[in-house]
Order: sequence, then structure tokens, then C-alpha cells
Amino acid sequence: MKITIIGAGLGGLTFGALAAKDGHEVCIYEKNHAPGGVVALLEHEGYKFEQGPLLIGDMLEEESIYEFLKGLGITLQTVRADRDIIMPDYDMVTPKEYSGPYWRRERLKELFPEEKNNIDRYYKFYDDVMHLRYLSTLPQTAINKIKLALAFLKIKKYANMNADELTKHFFKSEKIRTLYTGILADFCADPSESQGLAVVFTNFETAFDKRIPLYKNGKKYYPGYCYIKGGCQKLPEALADYIVSKGGKIHYNTIVDKVIVENKAVKAIRLENGEIINSDMVVGCGSGKDFFFDTVGAEHLDENYLNILNTFKPMEAVFMLHLGVDIDPMNYMRSALSYCYGMYDLHEATVKLRTGVYHEGYDGYLLFVPSHHAPEFAPEGKHCLTIYTVAPDTLKDGDWESKKEEYAKTLISLAEKQIPELSKHITTMKIMTAKEYREYTHMSKCSFGGVVPIWNQQNPTHITPVKHLIFVGQQSENAGGLGNVIMGAKSAYEKAFNN
Ligand SMILES: Cc1cc2nc3c(=O)[nH]c(=O)nc-3n(C[C@H](O)[C@H](O)[C@H](O)COP(=O)(O)OP(=O)(O)OC[C@H]3O[C@@H](n4cnc5c(N)ncnc54)[C@H](O)[C@@H]3O)c2cc1C
Repeated sequence: MKITIIGAGLGGLTFGALAAKDGHEVCIYEKNHAPGGVVALLEHEGYKFEQGPLLIGDMLEEESIYEFLKGLGITLQTVRADRDIIMPDYDMVTPKEYSGPYWRRERLKELFPEEKNNIDRYYKFYDDVMHLRYLSTLPQTAINKIKLALAFLKIKKYANMNADELTKHFFKSEKIRTLYTGILADFCADPSESQGLAVVFTNFETAFDKRIPLYKNGKKYYPGYCYIKGGCQKLPEALADYIVSKGGKIHYNTIVDKVIVENKAVKAIRLENGEIINSDMVVGCGSGKDFFFDTVGAEHLDENYLNILNTFKPMEAVFMLHLGVDIDPMNYMRSALSYCYGMYDLHEATVKLRTGVYHEGYDGYLLFVPSHHAPEFAPEGKHCLTIYTVAPDTLKDGDWESKKEEYAKTLISLAEKQIPELSKHITTMKIMTAKEYREYTHMSKCSFGGVVPIWNQQNPTHITPVKHLIFVGQQSENAGGLGNVIMGAKSAYEKAFNN
């Protein structure tokens, strides 16, 4: 079968790798000069920066992406890592001396002694969910199914709560609640919109301390987080090399502007230069709305699919500062990734984000040092430091181009709380706003991590009303995040070929 894939992001590359493996004729068209989409590196004045993913899940041995890649003969070197959280008036910074898998629980009890019992109750629930999760990774034999059902009974009463209800059920203090739900606001979701169990799934204790063992009684029990040695781009590069080694072709610097549909089935694609490429199957990704409304055409879709496209909510943008610095930021940070929150009112933060009001870093920002795991990203004696915030795609007042320098200054001065006199140590700076991201990812609205994790929101499905037109990537039913996109594209491939 001749399969045309639009976009060499992780979604398109995963689908392409599976199709090439099975002997299909694969042809990928990518707007940029390298594979990876938002995972590709940004090169700037002798420095390299990660544009997208920070800490990655599912990539360690016995985890889903690791095993998937192994099946293609791809093994990437990884290094386990952790992240710190700095709240407005307390912090959860990984201790120098390892103090056990539940150091965060104990630290919270010291900080909030009046909530001691509540904290213990939450961690009992956490353990129950982790056990349920572990059982779900085992082969679904009859006995395991029974164990799974019994484990579910323990947490059943929480299954219908949203994240706001769940954290209110456990904690009185807004300060503790925000520790657990802050990450949802980073995904542009109000905690009341997200499923309660997402609280546990976005707060695995192993994400906060790389020394916590992942194995229990010799079995892989907890999920871990890591960086890819040499940078995240190694992953799309490996997939692209695999596709080419199997006879597939990847055309860079090439935009697809139309999918041609005839008799409710795909027939061809049209490149920006007018060239028509006949195709038996077309795989799209990127912005759901742009792809289906502009590249495919609403007239080819049915009412149900149009309804999904009109109602699903993509995330907003990021405002990102990539800095070359002549100091080692790790002298001031415990982990190479720090989430620094500036407020506790996540509802208000989400409202601002969705109405075009930029918080300028006062609601919070992330500090990330990619040269910590990839020293080759910076010239000798220098480091890369990325500071970023979530931000509206479109500003209510003004525009990104005219405001970006002023916003960059504010963000640097806020980051000086963590890295004193940072502004004096900057050797180079690259600012990425929604505008640059829109151009880079070929989307009319920047949506950095895919779809907002709204409970029960239906996102565009892989199988579409047009025969042999498949949709993958972070705005499809699998949602965003590296692991979701890869495993989602795998599932799309299996659905497309009914196996
Ligand atoms: C700032 C940031 C931080 C993130 N942090 C994390 C994290 O910590 N952990 C994690 O797991 N995930 C993270 N993610 C999310 C993860 O990186 C993405 O969900 C995933 O990489 C998206 O892959 P994709 O294939 O869906 O899309 P993309 O990477 O956007 O790829 C789509 C590609 O298609 C191309 N394209 C689109 N339309 C056309 C066209 N018509 N013609 C030609 N080419 C086209 C685009 O140029 C692009 O290269 C982050 C993302 C960002 C941006």
C-alpha cells in the first residue's frame, strides 16, 4: 500500500516506522528541515536547546515506549532524573541525602502538622492506585482480572471525583492541594475539569526522586522518568533512520496543502508547489482543526466528527526563553528541572490563560537545564538554561512580537530568585513565543502539548469518516505527551489495518 504521512513528528514517524516494517511504501512530507516536530532541537549561536519534552515517561526498561522501540531494534541510552517543585512559600526540593520513597509525605507532615492524618489518608489512596496500575500492566489472565477488580473496589468511591473534588476530599489546605494539581494548570486545565485519578498519575513519587526504586519483589512496579542521553531528538532521528533503512522516504522542507478526497475515500495529496501525489492511505497530524477544516475540508466529514472538531479544546501556547549562560545553573538547583509556582489559585490562572491575559511569569515558570544531561549542547564552560511559562496563544492586549522583549526581562528577573544575578551571566538568548511556535509546527493556533486533559472530552479519533484517512498525534484521541503520541500512533496503525 502507498502510505503518505503528513508531518515527521513522533506521531507520523511512529506510524511510518510500523508501516515501513510491514513492507508498505512510506512517504513522509515534513515542513521543517529535520524530523521530530516539537521534539527537534533548536540550534542557536553555538548552543542547542530542547524545544519540547522535558522529563519523559515510559522510556525505561519494561516500559511501553522502551519495549516498542526495542521491537524495532532501537535502543536509546537514558538517564533517570527527577524534578523539584517550589511553591510560593514552601518547597518540595529533592533532598541531598536519600530519605526513602515517601520523603515528600513526611516533609508535608512537618510543614502541615494539622493535616497529618489527611496526608496519610492520601498516601494510602496513592498506594492503592499504584497497585491497581501495576496489576493493569500484567497479562490479563483470569486470576489477574479478579485481582484487578478487587483492587479497583478499594478506590471505586474516588473514581467519579474530579481533581478538585478529590484533593478537597483529602486536604483542607489549598497549599497542599495546589502541590498536586499545579501540573494540570500547566496543561491549561482547571482541576475541576480533570479526572480525579489524574492527580496520582501526574504525581508519581518516582518523578520527584530518581533514587526511589522502581522494582518491588523483583518486579517492575513503579514508572520512572528520564532524559535521553544526547537529547530527545535522538528518538525521532532513530525512527526516521529506521524508516529510511526500510525503503521509506522523508521529504523535508515540504508542505502538504491539500488532501484530495473522492467518493468518501482519500485519493491523493497536493504539495504546496501544486504537485499531486496519489496515495492509498493518508496520515495527518498537527492541529485537528487546521487539518480537517483546511487541508481535508469539512464537506468530507460527518456530523459526529464535525461535532468533535468543534468542541474539543487544544492547549494554549508557551513563552520560552532559551539562554546560553556562563555559569552552571545547577549550582543553584537540586534537579535539572524545577517547577516554580507563584500562586495557589489555579482556577483564576486558567481563566486568564484562556482569555488572553498573560501572567508574565508571576503565576509560575519552569527552569530547565538541558546541558546537565547533554553537556555537548553548550560550548565548553557554558550551559543552556530554558525558562518557560504557559501562555495564551493570542494576547488580549498587544501582540507577542512587540511585547516579547519586555516579558523576557520580567521572566529573567523572576528567575533570579533561584539563580542570583542571572541577567549578568547571559551569553545568548532565543525567545520563542506562540508566533514562532505556530510557524514552526504549521498550526494557526499554538497548542504546545496537544489537547487539554478535560475529563470525557472527545478528541479527534484516529479512524475518520474518510476511508483510509488516519489522524495521529497530540491532538488526536490519545492526547499529548511523548508516550501517548507514540503508543497512540501504534494503536492507530493497528486500527487502520484491523489487527
Ligand atoms: C514546550 C513543550 C514541553 C513538553 N513537555 C513534555 C514533557 O515533559 N513530556 C512529554 O511526554 N511530552 C512533552 N511535550 C509534548 C510532546 O513533545 C508532544 O506531545 C509530541 O512530541 C507531539 O508529537 P506530534 O507528532 O503530535 O506533533 P508535532 O511534534 O507537532 O509534529 C507535527 C509535525 O508535522 C509537521 N506538519 C504539520 N502539518 C504539516 C503539513 N501540512 N505539511 C508538512 N508538515 C506538516 C510539523 O511541521 C511538525 O513537524 C512537550 C511539548 C512542548 C512543546
